[in-house]
Amino acid sequence: MGICDLDPRETAMAWYPGATKRELEPESDAQPAIRPTQLILHSIAAPWSGERMYEYWRDSTNLESHFGCAYDGGLWQFIGTETRADANASANRRSDGTGAVSVESASNLEHTDPWTEAQVDSLIRLGVWMHERHDLPLRVCRAWDDPGYGYHRLFAKWSIDGTACPGDARVRQFHDRIFPGIVAGTGGTPPVDIPAPRPAVDLAELVAAARSDPSRQGTPVTYVGTRMVENALVAEGLLAGHLADGHYGTATLKAYAEWQRRLGYNGSDADGIPGRRSLTRLGAKHGFTVA
Ligand SMILES: [Zn+2]
Repeated sequence: MGICDLDPRETAMAWYPGATKRELEPESDAQPAIRPTQLILHSIAAPWSGERMYEYWRDSTNLESHFGCAYDGGLWQFIGTETRADANASANRRSDGTGAVSVESASNLEHTDPWTEAQVDSLIRLGVWMHERHDLPLRVCRAWDDPGYGYHRLFAKWSIDGTACPGDARVRQFHDRIFPGIVAGTGGTPPVDIPAPRPAVDLAELVAAARSDPSRQGTPVTYVGTRMVENALVAEGLLAGHLADGHYGTATLKAYAEWQRRLGYNGSDADGIPGRRSLTRLGAKHGFTVA
């Protein structure tokens, strides 16, 4: 924290009292101010402590989050909530000065495991504080710039090259436990007329990605929808985790063809190129819709 003319009380309050303060410098002083309107949850694909996350952002990448949540539920804060952090692509700081507050959390290397009970409790408490301190509305974000609560893969504009973060188990916990827990913790009532959005996979874009042949074109097509589909195929046990890379290559084609055969398709109906029916069935199980 350098010399600045903000009200010291306001500055202090941008630090969550439930977290260990470990300010990232010089990043923290170099970033512009934001008015926080969203809380976005992430999985870091590593079983790290808060201190390890701090070292990662200090030494290896500047795509930091505001917070880190260890497996034991311990929260660490690296950047004040009224300062931009860089984990959320277009939502870091919008042209109107609003931005997202981000939370990384310890996970297994494929981020397929659920949050621990201690992490769930801790994330709920942070969500309640974000409502009380920054007036976040008690709803799941309905668009990439809509105030509220969300998780990284909910909107493509929240990531640079597409992301499968967090995994299916945590997306379910977000909808079933964390968001309802935040609402209950504030004594509020959830909006009843707004269905929680599910990320959408564009069928035409996905088919184009599946039909592109990286070895022939030289430029592999990366599409966020491919990551979501691959993530679902991994959860189905049809694709190895390390092959979920956003490229609809041979392994993804083979895995998707297996999914089509499971649904009873065969011949050219099970060629690994997604059709609307098979994709809708996959999305219904794994939390995405088909556009
Ligand atoms: Zn993420």
